[in-house]
Amino acid sequence: RSAGESFQFETEVTKMMKLIINSLYKTKEIFLRELISNASDALDKIRFRALTDKKALGDTPDLKITLVADKERNTLTITDSGVGMTFKELKANLGTIAKSGTAEFLATVESQKNNTNLIGQFGVGFYSSFLVADRVTVVTKNNEDKQWIWESTSESNFRIIEDPRGNTLGRGTQIVLHLKPDAREYLEENRLRELVHRHSEFVSFPIYLWATKTETEEVPIEAEEEEQTTPADEESEDIEDITDKAEKDAAPKTKTVTKTVTDWELTNQQKPIWTRRAKDITEREYNEFYISFTKDYQDPLTYNHFRAEGEVEFNSILYIPKKPSPSFLQPGDDWSKNIRLFVRRVFITDDLAGFLPRWLSFLKGLVDSDDLPLNVSRETLQQHSIIKVIKKRVVAKAIDMLRALAGKDEKKYLEFWEQYGAAIKLGVIEDQANKKKLVKLLRFRSSHGGGGKSGLFTSLDEYVLRMRKAQPQIYFMSGENIETMGTSPFVEKLIARGYEVLYFGDAIDEYLVNVLVEHDGKRLQHVGKSGVKYGDEDEAAKTALAEAETKFEPLRDYLRTRLGEWVDTVRVSYQLTTSPCAVLAGEHGVSGAMERMLQQQVA
Ligand code: ADP
Ligand code: MG
Repeated sequence: RSAGESFQFETEVTKMMKLIINSLYKTKEIFLRELISNASDALDKIRFRALTDKKALGDTPDLKITLVADKERNTLTITDSGVGMTFKELKANLGTIAKSGTAEFLATVESQKNNTNLIGQFGVGFYSSFLVADRVTVVTKNNEDKQWIWESTSESNFRIIEDPRGNTLGRGTQIVLHLKPDAREYLEENRLRELVHRHSEFVSFPIYLWATKTETEEVPIEAEEEEQTTPADEESEDIEDITDKAEKDAAPKTKTVTKTVTDWELTNQQKPIWTRRAKDITEREYNEFYISFTKDYQDPLTYNHFRAEGEVEFNSILYIPKKPSPSFLQPGDDWSKNIRLFVRRVFITDDLAGFLPRWLSFLKGLVDSDDLPLNVSRETLQQHSIIKVIKKRVVAKAIDMLRALAGKDEKKYLEFWEQYGAAIKLGVIEDQANKKKLVKLLRFRSSHGGGGKSGLFTSLDEYVLRMRKAQPQIYFMSGENIETMGTSPFVEKLIARGYEVLYFGDAIDEYLVNVLVEHDGKRLQHVGKSGVKYGDEDEAAKTALAEAETKFEPLRDYLRTRLGEWVDTVRVSYQLTTSPCAVLAGEHGVSGAMERMLQQQVA
């Protein structure tokens, strides 16, 4: 028999394993969640394949996961009847880090050595087996290949051999964990039951545990037992006989026996959570479901579970993660896997490029459609008219969810805003159809009530409500930080006169004002640009300005000649309080902040 072939793990794998072992030793139990999640993914794959290929399920049609603890051998075995792996896949999947983003993630963790929390928020995957096992054996059978055995006892290498027993699995994968001495608790049925409930309750395939249970059984009392008679009885035999007979007819003589049996025990409820009624589902269940189905390991910020009816019918749960992914709104970010698509409870794909607009790239969730054909191909899916309708409804629901949040929980909405404000602004810029609704979700720091320093935010609607009588414009200042904006001479003067000024401090705000232009009929006016109009210019002020213009005409003349090539115009103004003069950008020119930004882009 061949000893098989020996391979080195990719260096990243070794690093990953070390990292997992060093940082997750306190939460070892997650290994089971990871292995069950892989089993579930593999089952999804074969179920999907079987939609178009009837023979794919072959003679292993039961789609399930089993857990067997063997106390004598010290092993915990997790078996699935999923898609399995070919030799090539086995070597690549369990020897390298194929996942995009993992290498990047590793680099981040390495650069922040002390931040062990990071890894807890990340799906650590198969290699977490080594948290509890010092030897891991994987037996796998894919329809396209023979049955293979993969085995590793260390962080540096693994072996693969053809299974000398032939095909014992039919199809699927079996992971045998040879448990470390300090991981024996995972041989206890109660512990395993508890872990499945905690981390894998929402897996959509049955998870069976090989478990003992005590059964009580009513067994008929044996004939000899029953007919024991004592000599004393014999005297009243006739009477006894009659009562005995009556009793026997009413209730046959039985006794209760307890015995221990070992059998498959179903440990999870597989009715998909989204098919249940929202009012029967607790927040805890929604949060656990979120954690089990995304690779995020902290509770979401909020969620919305709904059923769309009418033109198309579908169930959906949408989640907003507490924190966006590190690549959120960065060039090259890919959010095509944020929404999973099911058709009548069957998982179809988690690769829906273009389903969510960029501004909604933070949203996660699922859609289960009743209307799409089950055998829809992934390639034509994007073009499917039903998908287009679903897309629109999901976007509308996401906006509803945000409106509801803003309406009923201001504090939570601002928590959302701090993380995702830029996305809403992007939506205003890019999503013409929803612009009107999104504008209402915008929040800005404002000079009202202490401005940015106290962290106060306002909506445009609130600003308009507070506007002074006859105030013709919404004033804003742009700049890199609240301090410089708040102490600008233009802003000081406006505040002194009792006006409120909004602070536009994000890079994206410069683009935002180009599309926002006005709100509720009031023009958004940069206070550092010309065109600022006040509502309280009375006749006296106009006369005073006219007089000042005449008075300072010689100075204006002088400045116009000296600065001729640098400026468009020189004006006398009451816009400043303490500063003698200021340089303004033209009404249609770029502001100072924009100019700096453009320079950075060119640089
Ligand atoms: P992830 O699940 O995030 O891709 P893992 O480290 O958990 O990362 O698994 C790596 C890969 O190994 C999976 O993508 C899959 O291709 C393969 N794999 C792991 N477990 C199984 C399994 N039970 N059946 C089939 N393939 C599996
Ligand atoms: Mg995995």
